Amino acid sequence: MAVAEIITIGTELLLGEIQDTNSRFIARVLRDIGVDLYRLSTVGDNVHRITNTMREAIMRADVVISTGGLGPTVDDPTRQAVADVFNVPLVYHPELWDQILERFERYNRAPTDNNKRQAYLPANAIAITNEVGTAPAFAYELGTKTIISLPGVPREMEYLMNNFVRDYLKKRYDLHEEIILPWVIHTISKGESSIDELIGELETLSNPTVGLLAHPGQTDVRVTAKASSATEAEAMMAPVLATIREKLGPYIYGENETTLEQAVGQRLAELNVKTAIIESGTHGEIRARLGNHIPELISGETIEVNLSNETMKSLMYECQDQKQSDMVLGVRLTSDGDRQEVLEALLYKGEFVEKRRFYGGPPGDGQVWAVNSAMDLIRRTLQNNPR
Ligand code: ATP
Repeated sequence: MAVAEIITIGTELLLGEIQDTNSRFIARVLRDIGVDLYRLSTVGDNVHRITNTMREAIMRADVVISTGGLGPTVDDPTRQAVADVFNVPLVYHPELWDQILERFERYNRAPTDNNKRQAYLPANAIAITNEVGTAPAFAYELGTKTIISLPGVPREMEYLMNNFVRDYLKKRYDLHEEIILPWVIHTISKGESSIDELIGELETLSNPTVGLLAHPGQTDVRVTAKASSATEAEAMMAPVLATIREKLGPYIYGENETTLEQAVGQRLAELNVKTAIIESGTHGEIRARLGNHIPELISGETIEVNLSNETMKSLMYECQDQKQSDMVLGVRLTSDGDRQEVLEALLYKGEFVEKRRFYGGPPGDGQVWAVNSAMDLIRRTLQNNPR
């Protein structure tokens, strides 16, 4: 696996006068051809600093790609820096000078003496013909290491990346186009740190990689495999997915595109559980989200006043009788400064349970957290007591 670093050269970048868009473009090409990018650096138009930055980068990486600093002025020092990195002189290439003259003719401009600088390259460098500009680019190979210096003008850099660098690197480092396959396992009702404890070992893998992404009340486990085909990527991630499913089993509500309401709705539908929902403080969101999937099974009411625990309980029993429901969910979200409290109560098969839970995350997320947590109470209850 080849490792790369990018160095963008230009004092204007450091002064904040222009934004570095070149790195982003190069990063994507590298990703597409399966080269790992480890570091981006930006350095001003100064030969010594460029030389030092390149030296450090080429010690760590196989490939260093630089942009900028190839123009004809004294401020364009990249050629000299590469020559200094490899301790070689700059050598005049008459054929490059001919190409530059030809470009100028085509653009109907006259070259200056300074332009002749552009016909010099570090000794033994490989010239890369720049068909869309005047500054010749080049690659310098030493053993398995390569420095590629491209012009700073984005249009020229992009052209050379697409028309030369991409295939050049694929050939030189025997790269094969790779696909990146992501797989997401959605968990709920278990904090990110507990999940981390359960599957922390997997998070040190390098291919596939395993990472966590926390949402209010939920944690996604994201597995990503890199391989030359989807089948190969699936085979690589299969044992990892199996371990995650085994370790996090009861907390997993779905995978990839599955939403919590889909998972809960599907379970309610399979078991044909007529469900009434009484919501206070959550603006009817649970009823709306579940009702989208199983409208025939969902009924209930939204109450904007703050119900006491006792009132909630008696309303739930009333609702069970009136609507002939198999299950009644009661949810009340209240906030006390930064702290949100949710009361979740469930009446199912004659059994009444209630629980208060607290949330200290961003207040704006309180409703999402409460709604997810309450929907998950249904899921867990059906999991433990399906019939
Ligand atoms: P040329 O000889 O064609 O001028 P050069 O290699 O000398 O090319 P620079 O003089 O460093 O390139 O940059 C030319 C222009 O390209 C800059 O003025 C800027 O507009 C743009 N540029 C340079 N580097 C970047 C970058 N990293 N991201 C976006 N634009 C850039």
